[in-house]
Amino acid sequence: MSCPDKFVEYMHDFLDEDIAPENERELRAHLQTCQACETHFKELKKAVAFVQSTAHVKAPDHFTAGVMAALPKERKKVEVNRWFK
Ligand SMILES: [Zn+2]
Repeated sequence: MSCPDKFVEYMHDFLDEDIAPENERELRAHLQTCQACETHFKELKKAVAFVQSTAHVKAPDHFTAGVMAALPKERKKVEVNRWFK
């Protein structure tokens, strides 16, 4: 059995948040009746979620800057504490 290719396109459009409302309705209706496409869609969503979580972890700009900014401060604090002891 095979499904119209358009449903796979709809899935990608949906995940890109670039799907026409009528196409989304058609896709959702199809997913409810088609196990194969539902599975495929879940896999796609998982892949997208993985990429997004990786991107999130990889978004180090603030994180690294924060760590770098925190490090010297910590060191200064320790020095100051020693000074006052
Ligand atoms: Zn299908």
